[in-house]
Amino acid sequence: MTHDVKITVIGAGVVGLAIAALLSENFKSIFVIEKHLKFGQETSCRNSEVVHSGIYYPKDSLKTKLCIEGRKMLYEFCEKYSVDYNKCGKLIVANSDLEDKKLDILMRNAKDNGVDEVEKLLKEEVELLEPNVRALTAIYSSETGIVDSYGFMKQLELNAINNEVQFIYGSEVNKIQKTDNGYKLTLIEHGGDSFDFSSEIVINASGLNSDKTSEMIGINDSSYNLHYWKGEYFSIGNGKNTLVNRLIYPVPNANILSLGVHATIDLGQGLKLGPNTVYLKDKKINYKVDPKHKIDFFNSAKQYFPFLELEDLRPDQAGIRPKLQGIGDAFRDFIIKEEKEKGYANFINLIGIESPGLTASLAIANYVKELI
Ligand SMILES: Cc1cc2nc3c(=O)[nH]c(=O)nc-3n(C[C@H](O)[C@H](O)[C@H](O)COP(=O)(O)OP(=O)(O)OC[C@H]3O[C@@H](n4cnc5c(N)ncnc54)[C@H](O)[C@@H]3O)c2cc1C
Repeated sequence: MTHDVKITVIGAGVVGLAIAALLSENFKSIFVIEKHLKFGQETSCRNSEVVHSGIYYPKDSLKTKLCIEGRKMLYEFCEKYSVDYNKCGKLIVANSDLEDKKLDILMRNAKDNGVDEVEKLLKEEVELLEPNVRALTAIYSSETGIVDSYGFMKQLELNAINNEVQFIYGSEVNKIQKTDNGYKLTLIEHGGDSFDFSSEIVINASGLNSDKTSEMIGINDSSYNLHYWKGEYFSIGNGKNTLVNRLIYPVPNANILSLGVHATIDLGQGLKLGPNTVYLKDKKINYKVDPKHKIDFFNSAKQYFPFLELEDLRPDQAGIRPKLQGIGDAFRDFIIKEEKEKGYANFINLIGIESPGLTASLAIANYVKELI
């Protein structure tokens, strides 16, 4: 049987776009199916836009490997295609002896992971870099930066289109059936009409839905179940957005559930705090920022931003992390695998692609290419 298409990518977030753009260099006949009317409408446009260096996660994890590779590839990509970025650097600040000890552990982890562009700074050295930041000591990571995630995705889409990838927007994958040598997919279009086609290879890059998409073909593995952790942001106004020039992070928790409420600058000179971690028990997607959380943001950031006043904070955006980690769980890595062992050859799952998924996206695409 011949297929209508060779490869179908489900999801046009940054990961699906990076995969489609890369695979289109070697394969013709690729569909990208996206339920929204354009790319990047979910997690990929609701994040901190930080290009991470790869210092937090365990050495042999995909999160570390793909973050480090992806970061280098991302900066090269931005140079090549004139996508806006700023390698502004980042400080992880300690304000107690206990936090300072945790910084030393983090520093060892960074070196173990092969991230050499980090150094420990004393109070006076932090003051020279960032006079408005309070810290006893800090780790300075010079390779960390920020990127225009929209511009990056737009370029990926363009590269894919130039290589004849077909984007089918406004259509949701509703059903996937295994056939003798591939998969039959059913799409529901915005107007309610349905449409079937067959594909030899299917790549599930459907973000918050990726566990459900995997269940559609019949994989029922509870270790794939996603937990939704919302992350809210508050922006800093009253003219204080220009008081820092780098990303400022606190010391993270031991289980790296999140990197802590940090301060990120953006390419438009904005400064915002976030994201916090709110568990969405009902898994209902809502991007509202709860104004009652303002005081928690203030209390966290006041430790390293002595200039901050409560009235400087305004509710900003929110995003939802598709995490494999539930409440109280230990670290979980990305799942990126071809499901041959489960009886689904040529079906590639990407599940739990939370942070540093934006940074790692080009390396994730390479990894998927190797699986094919
Ligand atoms: C608060 C927050 C902060 C973050 N900060 C950073 C950061 O600073 N740096 C970093 O590197 N990473 C960060 N991340 C992580 C990063 O944003 C994600 O890893 C990345 O955006 C994931 O991209 P994706 O393409 O896998 O998912 P998505 O962007 O969610 O894309 C999946 C797409 O699939 C589509 N889809 C789903 N189901 C279907 C279906 N059945 N049919 C058709 N289409 C479907 C969706 O509409 C969506 O567009 C952050 C994440 C959050 C939530």
